[in-house]
Amino acid sequence: MKLPKRYDPREAEPRWQQRWEETGIFKFGRFPDRPVYSIDTPPPTVSGAIHIGHVFSYVQAEVVARFQRMRGMNVYYPFGFDDNGLPSERLVEKEKGVTAAEVGRDKFVQMCLELTKEYETEFKDFWRSLGISVDWNEDYSTIDPVSQRISQRSFLDLYKKGRVYRKEAPTLWCPECHTAIAQAEVEDAEHASVFYDVAFKIDGRDLIISTTRPELLPACVGMFAHPDDERYRDIVGQKATVPIFGYEVPIMADDKADPEKGTGLVMCCTFGDTTDIAWWQEHGLDTRLVLDDQGHMNELAPGYEGLYLKKARKKIVEDLEGAGLLRGEEPITHDVNVHERCGTEIEFSVASQWFVRVLDIKDRIIEAGSKVSWHPEFMEVRFRNWVENLKWDWCVSRQRYYGVPIPLWTCSSCGEVVLAGEDQLPVDPTVAAPPVEACPECGGSLEPERDIMDTWMTSSCTPFINLKWREEGDRTEAFVKSDGDGNEYLMDLRPQAHDIIRTWAYYTIVKSVLNEGKIPWRKAMISGHVLHPDRAKISKSKGGGAHSPSAVIEERSADGTRYWACSSRLGVDTMMADEAFDAGKRLVVKLWNASKFAIGRMEDIDLEAPRELSTIDRWLLARLSATVERAAESYEACEYHAAMEAAETFFWHDLCDNFIEIAKKRLYGDEGYDDATRRGAQFALYQALLATLKMVAPVMPHITEEIHSLFFAGREGVESIHISSWPDPPKDWSDDEAEESGQLALSVIEGMRKAKSVAKVSVAAPVGTLSVVCDDDAWARIEPMRSELLDVSNAGELVRAETRDDSFVETDREGVLVAAELIDTSEA
Ligand SMILES: [Zn+2]
Ligand SMILES: [Zn+2]
Repeated sequence: MKLPKRYDPREAEPRWQQRWEETGIFKFGRFPDRPVYSIDTPPPTVSGAIHIGHVFSYVQAEVVARFQRMRGMNVYYPFGFDDNGLPSERLVEKEKGVTAAEVGRDKFVQMCLELTKEYETEFKDFWRSLGISVDWNEDYSTIDPVSQRISQRSFLDLYKKGRVYRKEAPTLWCPECHTAIAQAEVEDAEHASVFYDVAFKIDGRDLIISTTRPELLPACVGMFAHPDDERYRDIVGQKATVPIFGYEVPIMADDKADPEKGTGLVMCCTFGDTTDIAWWQEHGLDTRLVLDDQGHMNELAPGYEGLYLKKARKKIVEDLEGAGLLRGEEPITHDVNVHERCGTEIEFSVASQWFVRVLDIKDRIIEAGSKVSWHPEFMEVRFRNWVENLKWDWCVSRQRYYGVPIPLWTCSSCGEVVLAGEDQLPVDPTVAAPPVEACPECGGSLEPERDIMDTWMTSSCTPFINLKWREEGDRTEAFVKSDGDGNEYLMDLRPQAHDIIRTWAYYTIVKSVLNEGKIPWRKAMISGHVLHPDRAKISKSKGGGAHSPSAVIEERSADGTRYWACSSRLGVDTMMADEAFDAGKRLVVKLWNASKFAIGRMEDIDLEAPRELSTIDRWLLARLSATVERAAESYEACEYHAAMEAAETFFWHDLCDNFIEIAKKRLYGDEGYDDATRRGAQFALYQALLATLKMVAPVMPHITEEIHSLFFAGREGVESIHISSWPDPPKDWSDDEAEESGQLALSVIEGMRKAKSVAKVSVAAPVGTLSVVCDDDAWARIEPMRSELLDVSNAGELVRAETRDDSFVETDREGVLVAAELIDTSEA
């Protein structure tokens, strides 16, 4: 079998992708007797186009799936789509130019379903074009009936365990999306703003406070100073008049007021920030919510009613100025909390919301997190810090439309809650009848819950969805593994990016602990982001632009793109660097060309025929053994980058630069070599090339499959390199002595090449005598490799020199000096 002259990824990659799908080699359960290795694939949010950041992190995880498959595992590698909730609603609003309020709930949900399906088809085609080895029979979406049922089942289980409560409480609120949001959905941003110095009055005396939120003046319910602040000690306990609005508020002391900040005097509103909420709770203050749920002022702000908060701010500032109550203004930039989905500044609201109680079990959550093996290790700290700093229980209700309904009804008379029955799931209480006709407590009528759940309530169930938790065909028994210390793990691997540690990783751990008393996964593999040249994160919400992943694959091939994705260490943010793409391209070309040569020399290979291994053959096999071990350890630890580095060093240097050059004449069956030694070289070459392809296969599945199929597949009796077994070098390939001798041979060759380079002749230039200065021990090893050293040097003679002159060059190995006596062929 001869390899064609060139390899064309544009032709080969789609061909292999189609073949893999037809032959079903990635099907879960293809090898039912093997142990399961289960991967909790991140379901991408269906909220817009795929971006290059997806490619980056999905490839890194997919490499682990391919590696584990070669390691003999029955790999469960599904694909999911997170297509419910706010992100998908916003996509529909943006693309179709409508809101739910305009078209009605049913029509809107239908539009969401249709549009997300369109995107999912596109997504699937894209992932195929990248050669992702998922089992498409195992795909799910978080809005499908099974996912909804599992999500509602999880909610009901938490409810029965006393973990769910409803409370009229201050809630983080997005005025743009008109819904409550969770702490995890809040992001920091820097906004330009203005500090206004505003005068309150007490007995005709000015009390100046500084605020960036003058529109909250009508929401003011008190003023605070530090108890040690001498300036205000005399007025604590008295009342001040709120400017413009003219009503009185109490002046109080609290050590959360910072005397160093501004005038040391602050106003407390309903609610500017979390300190306001704390004061409101601790001091039992009034509630004055002046904003409606869309950010407009209400009747508590007479004269400003109906104005959006920014307009109200402007008008109030003007009016303060007109009344002589504005004493200064200073532009600033400051950190504000924004909603991560839309970038709008967060407000607070007081409303009845559903919560999952988590603040009392922070320790349990942190402990469960500590039993996950995090890669890279420092990511665990991010998780722990997040949990330690939680200030809110998990608000799980959303005042939206497209999502998983909260499965219950409430008595309109006494507030008794009636839960949906298991046989009703999945249920939409606004459509379905409650399991009982009337309230079991008072006979009152039952009102359906209209809120839907936070999307994280469902995506935190992905291990349950993968396990078919309490469904027909429940896989818990097959998947769950124990560590022998009483800890049980639902799945093997969770790959995800670092920005969702505080959401997806955190919520999944909460669910696994509360619903099942288990730890969700043994390993968490946390990837970094792709940064724009200006170092901003490339993501769907901001648009991938010129870095459209399809364009990148078209230009750079799937293997080249995958190589780039694996060119930095796990967890590290990266850039779109040409160097990495170019290195990937070079590797593809080199693999092809080296294979073309090697396969040409192995046409008559017979692995059973008698063979004699030379020292160099044994050196190559010893290097191969060490490399395979290193690569396996690295892949096992999710360090694909180190695995590739080991494989590439072996391939480029040991195999191509040295072994093939040294063994060339033997491989050609030149005079002076018998058949057994030729077969020895063939054997070493065969093993080295096959193992190289296998080590590279997880990262570059197409080129390796192509070469493997053209030569190795038939001989190895395996359909695809991706279900072939990981190289398992016999013990006797590890050979310290051969390694040592081989290194000496490399030193001599290096010296010879240096000498030629100094003389500015080609590496193939003929040499009369190759002279080596070394100790007795080294010479005893070098001498038996004479014929191969002469071959590679194109030299007539190899001698040990006693004396040295300026023509000798030093080599990598201390004490070995080499001189090459060049033959002038210019006359000939
Ligand atoms: Zn929002
Ligand atoms: Zn009742």
